[in-house]
Parts: sequence; C-alpha cells; structure tokens
Amino acid sequence: MYIFKKTSELQQYVKTLTSKPGFVPTMGALHQGHISLIHQSKQENDLTVCSVFINPTQFNDPKDFDKYPITLAADIEKLLNAGTDILFLPSVEEMYPDGIQAQTNYPLGFIDTVLEGKFRPGHFQGVCTIVHKLLDAVTPANLYMGEKDFQQCMVIKKLLSILDSKIALHTCATLRESNGLAMSSRNERLLAEDRLRAGAIFENLMMIKSIMKVQSFQSLQEKALHALIDKQIAPEYLLLCEADTLVELPDFDFEKKMALLIAAKIGNVRLIDNLRLN
Ligand code: AMP
Repeated sequence: MYIFKKTSELQQYVKTLTSKPGFVPTMGALHQGHISLIHQSKQENDLTVCSVFINPTQFNDPKDFDKYPITLAADIEKLLNAGTDILFLPSVEEMYPDGIQAQTNYPLGFIDTVLEGKFRPGHFQGVCTIVHKLLDAVTPANLYMGEKDFQQCMVIKKLLSILDSKIALHTCATLRESNGLAMSSRNERLLAEDRLRAGAIFENLMMIKSIMKVQSFQSLQEKALHALIDKQIAPEYLLLCEADTLVELPDFDFEKKMALLIAAKIGNVRLIDNLRLN
C-alpha cells in the first residue's frame, strides 16, 4: 500500500494508471463498516484509494472535533489487511492552504436545511468542501459511501450534480454491531454499558417498522421517544421522511418510499441512524 500525504504526488501517481480508481473517503478510527466499503470498491475497481482525514470544517461543535478518535496505526493495519492500494493521508494545511475559514458555498438547497442540516448548521457545506477537494485529488471513477449517513449520501449526490461530475456514487449498506447499533467511529467514545444501551436506537426504529401498518406514525414516534428517554438516551429528532427527498411526512404513506431518521445523544456522544421502511 502506498501512502501519499501530498495532493500533487497522489495526482501524479493516479495519472500513470490505466483506469481511474475507486475511492473511499473516511475520517479514520476505522471499523468493519469502513472496511466493507473498501471491499466493495476492490470488487468493482482495479485500484482502491482510501483517505483518512478528520475534516475540521464539518464539525460545528469544536469539542466534537477535539474528541474525535484517532487510531492511525490500527487504521493502517486494517487498510493493509483489506488490500487497499493507496492511503491518502493529508494534513489540514495540505487540504486548506488558505486556512479553514476559506470555504465555498454550495447551493445544496432544501436538503441542507433539514435534519442534520438543521441541527448542525454548516456541517454539509464543510462536508462538500472536503469531498470536492478529495475528489479533485483522487480523480476516481467510483465513490463509495455508507447509507448510515443517509442525508450525507444525498448531499454528495447533489454535489456531484452541481459539479457536473461523471463520478458514480455507490451507497453501501450499514454494518451493525450484534445489538443492532450502527458501527461508528464515535462508538469508541461510549462506555461499554452505554454501547449496549445504544442498541435501543435501532431497536426502536425496528419497532416502528414492525407495527407501522397498524398504528399512526405519531403514536409510534411517541412510544419510541419515551422508550429511548427511559434508557437515558436523548433523542434530537426522530422523523419519518420521504426517502428520495427527505421531505418530512406527518404519517405513513405506503405509496411513497419512506425512511426513518434519528439523531440521539448518549452522554455527550451524538449518534445517527436510519431505516428504510419500504
Ligand atoms: P466517517 O469516517 O464516519 O466519515 O465515514 C466514512 C464513510 O464510511 C462514510 O461514507 C460513512 O457513511 C461510512 N460508514 C460509516 N459507518 C458505517 C457503517 N456502520 N456501515 C457502512 N458504512 C459506514
């Protein structure tokens, strides 16, 4: 596995290849969810690039940035074991030579105003800023992202259309721990007992799905919110949305593709998850 720290050197190397690579952008603290994206990219591309970069401009809460787990040696070992061809490991100065204040404003429209966009103002502009820079550095044919970050996938789809890019976005299934908790780098920050309790997040999404045919969303939402609060999990939102647009739905509408989206805090660790309903 080659490790590049400079964009120019990575670009020079990629230019020598006969086909464009598959690309998996990450912020490190890698787990099986990340590695599943690497596996999918390896199946579909001659060469796979993974980036590890904790992007300061997407953290609306500086404390969250400061506490983001860093496990670089273990990450490198996992990437090697997965057969990753290239690791792109730039510094903040390399990605933001003019400082982190200098950001483009992407016209994302509605999807930047709801759910994560509403609760984490500026987050998706930061995500687009870094993904744009990374795509310019890696020049992939295929981009692999996790459905765990449901809204992020939609934002990146929009970014690719704004950029008139030919890069194909592949959205990959969420990998979960044995109690259903979506794997996440942030899980590293949970105490063992909290990690167990956190299984209630997905459990309640599944509960809603299992009885959605016989009860209103409002009553199931209330039931789930109470169940979470009983477990000392603090929900920020639990909403039913149209899956293709993220427009909020007041109740189940089986004519439409629907998804549940949730953000909840356990202590000071904020977790998100989602579930397609049909
Ligand atoms: P992150 O390092 O959190 O920025 O995640 C990097 C990529 O891995 C993103 O496309 C995520 O959606 C994806 N990812 C994170 N967690 C999971 C998971 N549990 N299953 C599948 N993909 C994931």
